[in-house]
Amino acid sequence: MVEHSRGLALNQVEVDWRVTVNGTRTRPSHPPIDERVIARFSTKYRVDESGCWLWSAAIKENGYGTFGIGPAVASFQYYAHRVSYEINIGPIPDGLQIDHLCRVRSCVNPAHLEPVTNAENNQRRTALITHCPRGHEYTDANTYVWRGARFCRECSRLKEQRARDRVGHATLAGASV
Ligand SMILES: [Zn+2]
Ligand SMILES: [Zn+2]
Repeated sequence: MVEHSRGLALNQVEVDWRVTVNGTRTRPSHPPIDERVIARFSTKYRVDESGCWLWSAAIKENGYGTFGIGPAVASFQYYAHRVSYEINIGPIPDGLQIDHLCRVRSCVNPAHLEPVTNAENNQRRTALITHCPRGHEYTDANTYVWRGARFCRECSRLKEQRARDRVGHATLAGASV
């Protein structure tokens, strides 16, 4: 379940949309987004042919764009896609993450953004994985779901096979393997 834990790590970054500046957490709520802020925001992306609004200002290592709000000398950095959602659609309900329907993290097109719960977001990430860690495809026939997680039938079969082989060896050759 490597994918699952990796997904959680990403989510933890996104759950809290404040950005760390110089090692200090920024304050919990952002300054008001006024006309000037909106005007400045609209100069910081370009629309590509697929309709994504690609952020052209600062982008964090995790791929998300950031946008400063506040007085120039003491502005705080916020995730640009979340700011875009608030400008164009409205406040993000408490505790919800913003999922990129287009999968382009630097995109700030509000039509490509959707607030989701942590659980929904994890499910969507999982759905993007088409093969098990050993490379078997997650077809309907090769997949079973247990406690909300997908498992590979081929891997389970191989695991049982190995267990049977071990028992066989133990019976035939004692513990000398
Ligand atoms: Zn997009
Ligand atoms: Zn497999």
